[in-house]
Amino acid sequence: MIPGKSQILTCPFCGKDKEIMSLVSGNTFGAELWSDNKQIALMLPEISYIQKCPHCGKYYIKERQSVKYAKEGYSDEQGLLTFPEMKEAFSQLTAEGFIDKEEEGNVRMMLHHAYNDYYYRTGNKNVIPEKDQKLFHENGLWLINNLITDNVMKTEFYREIGDMKTAKKILDSLVVEDDFLKQIVSSIRERVESNNCEVFKIQ
Ligand SMILES: [Zn+2]
Repeated sequence: MIPGKSQILTCPFCGKDKEIMSLVSGNTFGAELWSDNKQIALMLPEISYIQKCPHCGKYYIKERQSVKYAKEGYSDEQGLLTFPEMKEAFSQLTAEGFIDKEEEGNVRMMLHHAYNDYYYRTGNKNVIPEKDQKLFHENGLWLINNLITDNVMKTEFYREIGDMKTAKKILDSLVVEDDFLKQIVSSIRERVESNNCEVFKIQ
């Protein structure tokens, strides 16, 4: 992984700057892949699509910024958001409105991943408040209906949001030839049958 000079972001609300990590190159060797399609690669650190302003606390989308780099110095700031921050970001950005469906899809996928990070991936399996489950469910349905085209992925998202009946219905009609996919499908089926909606590591 080759880091680049810090990228400078300017908050559209308060006008103050924030420096974040930039990458000249990276790679996905040894990356972890999870069933919710999240990839975690040590040699390709994720730089958050949504950034939180450290000065005023508002959220903004990095891709909407003009690209400026510091003359010198590197930053290791990725700007990753916790699930509580991601919920705040989601309600702020939804109220402001998205530029297009792609942007909304990216934000909603982040919300899905942040929930799984918070309640499952980091091992924090406490009781999940009903309000969070409801948000996760509604958001998951949006992703299934607007973004996800692959049937294996649709099944997995139905399972994660706890709709085992629909997940099973799609599973029963799936025809999969590829060995790797077959293995994933049988891992999903096992979990659907035991009513388990936890995200799991694929590799
Ligand atoms: Zn600000």
